[in-house]
Amino acid sequence: MKLLIIGGGIGGLATALALHKAGIDVEIFEQSQELGELGVGINLLPHAVKELAALGLLPALDEAGIRTRELIYMSRLGQVVWRELRGLDAGYDVPQFSIHRGKLHGVLHVAALSRIGPSRIHTDRRLVDFIENKGRVTAILENRTGARFEATGDGLIGADGIHSRVRSVFYPDESALLWSGIMLWRGATEWPVHEDGRTMVIAGGNAAKFVFYPIHFDPARPGHRLTNWAVMARVADGRKPPARREDWNTVARLEEACAFVHDSFNLGFVEPQKIIEATGTFYEYPNCDRDPVARWSFGHVTLLGDAAHPMYPVGSNGASQAILDAASLARHLTATSDIGQAFKAYDEERRPLTADIVKSNRRGGPEGVIDVVEARAPDGFDDIEDVASHAEREAIVRGYASMAGYARDQVNRGGQGR
Ligand SMILES: Cc1cc2nc3c(=O)[nH]c(=O)nc-3n(C[C@H](O)[C@H](O)[C@H](O)COP(=O)(O)OP(=O)(O)OC[C@H]3O[C@@H](n4cnc5c(N)ncnc54)[C@H](O)[C@@H]3O)c2cc1C
Repeated sequence: MKLLIIGGGIGGLATALALHKAGIDVEIFEQSQELGELGVGINLLPHAVKELAALGLLPALDEAGIRTRELIYMSRLGQVVWRELRGLDAGYDVPQFSIHRGKLHGVLHVAALSRIGPSRIHTDRRLVDFIENKGRVTAILENRTGARFEATGDGLIGADGIHSRVRSVFYPDESALLWSGIMLWRGATEWPVHEDGRTMVIAGGNAAKFVFYPIHFDPARPGHRLTNWAVMARVADGRKPPARREDWNTVARLEEACAFVHDSFNLGFVEPQKIIEATGTFYEYPNCDRDPVARWSFGHVTLLGDAAHPMYPVGSNGASQAILDAASLARHLTATSDIGQAFKAYDEERRPLTADIVKSNRRGGPEGVIDVVEARAPDGFDDIEDVASHAEREAIVRGYASMAGYARDQVNRGGQGR
């Protein structure tokens, strides 16, 4: 059995590795000219880490990222709303990682090169179309000069991201990505260590959020960590196509991001404006998603990762869910040699779960806990219990974890986000 994977991002490479381990022949086609280490920080939740650990990637993840110890939600005035241990420190049998997206991508790429081989990983190959005929699928690809190529396999997996060409073939009338009106600015820079150097903070509320977490430790600079920051703020109303095209590589303007943190945060351990100013180049991304669709799998073609379930980047689920998709697909393809049947079973398992996450992220995901507190106590509080009870806060944060499949018992019981 040979499968064609369109897209060499996190989802495509994780899928290639999982299928290769299952004894399936794969070939990857990526539109970029090289698989560079792009992006900034990302969190890998324990359910996804469990799948990468099963692929033998834990040592490489440890070298590239940081095992997150604690997550603290706080108000814009630095008052703690909720704090909880994460990963091994919370009793999971695998860690949670905070990691540079490019480094994570690099870990997967290096493993794919050594296990699957460079001859199976093609760059500068953009899928323009595909044809399914009698159980065989032919991908039609183009390079940057417009030259055309064809590749044929027994099935095709569209892991081609938020602007998926594969998805557009099945849903030609789907509208543009819809924007929440919230802009996300994100960057990473060397910054003095905070607490134990393994703590993640999400602060603020409805008006603006500030996210801060370390993603890499360089032993040569023990007092510093490569630190990821993000500012999320509403700049427009409603759900509509974004004013600027959503692209993870759009360089942002300092004054736009700073406008939302200047004078409005008093966190004590960091001045958001200072870390933004220290960063140099950083990026903007309008929080976009699409409505969940009724089907991902059509015959011997299916969708995976952001192509299948584009979601707002809240709750640390984008990359994690793509990795869970990869593991699920490999499992179903191992259970049956009927590709159409395996793709259908994968679709039926993963689509409803990820649709719930898409919808929950629209309501704020676990970060809703600071939204609630800010709405009720915008000028701070003496006792958090008077603003929102422990049970209410726990229901928001832990309820999201259960829904997204990464509650401790779910992960320790066997993973796979169920
Ligand atoms: C450059 C970049 C930077 C990112 N930075 C961040 C970040 O900082 N924080 C964060 O939370 N998320 C980031 N993301 C998104 C995050 O990687 C995804 O949400 C998540 O990993 C799901 O992975 P995916 O493989 O489905 O999509 P992606 O990681 O987006 O990968 C899709 C891949 O498909 C390729 N592709 C697209 N169309 C075609 C085509 N027609 N033919 C062939 N190849 C095609 C793309 O070039 C890309 O490599 C970034 C994505 C990219 C591409």
